[in-house]
Amino acid sequence: EKPQVIIIGRPNVGKSTLFNRLVGKRLALVDDQPGVTRDRRMGDAEIAGLRFTIVDTAGWEDEDELSLPGRMRKQTEASLEGADAALFVIDARAGLTPLDTEIARYLREHDVPIVLVANKAEGAAGEAGALESYSLGLGEPVALSAEHGEGIADLFGGLWPII
Ligand code: GDP
Ligand code: MG
Repeated sequence: EKPQVIIIGRPNVGKSTLFNRLVGKRLALVDDQPGVTRDRRMGDAEIAGLRFTIVDTAGWEDEDELSLPGRMRKQTEASLEGADAALFVIDARAGLTPLDTEIARYLREHDVPIVLVANKAEGAAGEAGALESYSLGLGEPVALSAEHGEGIADLFGGLWPII
């Protein structure tokens, strides 16, 4: 059984783009509009010989009547059950939002090991956001650009001690 790694984060941070980058195919729908990922998607990923199953999620994306905890339970909790690690993605350009902080608090309540990912960090644009993300208390962020394919290999250092 390959280890399972799930991608978590608020809408529009680039989860599906990262998923596609890791799988090497466009299996997940990427869109500027939050909420396009409607179900869980799984694929095979490999970074420098480290092989794992990667899972794209959209647990915080539904703009429905449910409360935030309800939305969390809906999909993410089920994904977390079988996960060996979670990639918690933030948007390094946008900086932290209250929802990022809320998700971080939620993740800390679970036992799953977390690798913090500061996405959209191509060039120098994400430096401030990556630094800001230290305040989540989830350790050192891996700054990368899922869209431009920069820094993906740096995920290895975060993942291999865990999975
Ligand atoms: P999700 O809602 O978290 O799954 O986010 P998506 O993967 O659908 O991406 C949301 C938007 O962010 C899209 O317009 C992507 O093209 C854009 N995006 C994703 N990754 C990057 C990145 O590394 N850099 C920049 N500048 N934009 C990105
Ligand atoms: Mg998505």
